[in-house]
Amino acid sequence: MSKPMNIQQFFKLFPDDDACLDHLFLTRYGSEPACERCGEIGAFHRLANHPAYTCNCGHHIHPMAGTPFERSRTPLQKWYYAMFLFTATRNGVSAKEIQRQLGVTYKCAWRIAHKIREYMGAVDGNDRLGGKGGPIVEADKAFIGGKDKRGEDDKAIVLGMVERGGDLMTKVVPNRRRIVVSGSVADAVKRGTHIATDEGTAFFKLSEYGFIHTTVNHAKKEYVRGETHTNTIEGFWSWLKRGINGTHVWVSHKHLPKYLGEFEFRFNLRKQGHLMFPILLASFPRP
Ligand SMILES: [Zn+2]
Repeated sequence: MSKPMNIQQFFKLFPDDDACLDHLFLTRYGSEPACERCGEIGAFHRLANHPAYTCNCGHHIHPMAGTPFERSRTPLQKWYYAMFLFTATRNGVSAKEIQRQLGVTYKCAWRIAHKIREYMGAVDGNDRLGGKGGPIVEADKAFIGGKDKRGEDDKAIVLGMVERGGDLMTKVVPNRRRIVVSGSVADAVKRGTHIATDEGTAFFKLSEYGFIHTTVNHAKKEYVRGETHTNTIEGFWSWLKRGINGTHVWVSHKHLPKYLGEFEFRFNLRKQGHLMFPILLASFPRP
């Protein structure tokens, strides 16, 4: 299937909490798990009235342990549906929308949304970018966020790095000093990579870190020089800002990394949108 799942397919596959729990158990433990207490294979059956499975020997497995739903009182199907919503949109989902769609309180919706964002970021991971002879990596920084609860400016400085045609990574940096910004690039990108940036002083002397570094001079309205440009990362910034400003009233400094993780996940799967939901469903930590 190369089309994303639609809402009817979702409810056919996951008609209730039990179907979701069976799915979770199967995904995390396989169809014939061996009991770690007695060694019997495939003997687990569902416990009545508990979201757990038991072996004939009495050993229990709780499929929700170690997932974002662990200890949640929200029914599992609502969690699944919330994850579905997160992968069915381009620009993100607000807590208000989760509240409306799931019929939960705003506070509960807000918590679910953040847990899912965190999970998306974890699934996306942060493998180092580039490599000698590999694709050009564009690096740039942007001011992201908005106002805090008191209406005061609460923008964060975000460093973004993207492999042309490949993966993207972001990092909130505490300031614009060269040592901080260039040091963060050096942590995230493999040595020997060709890095393209503008002529901002934060990126000055990147070559001293073992990179091939070329620049365009935005101040002089130079946007492309041969292979050197930062169009990919700038495209990401405008999409991210549109997503954040269009969907959320305000995004605090504190929670910004979660939104960044969410948008990185979406960006990195941009060519395989239909896989977003299946990947989220299949990426819970190994028990
Ligand atoms: Zn057993």
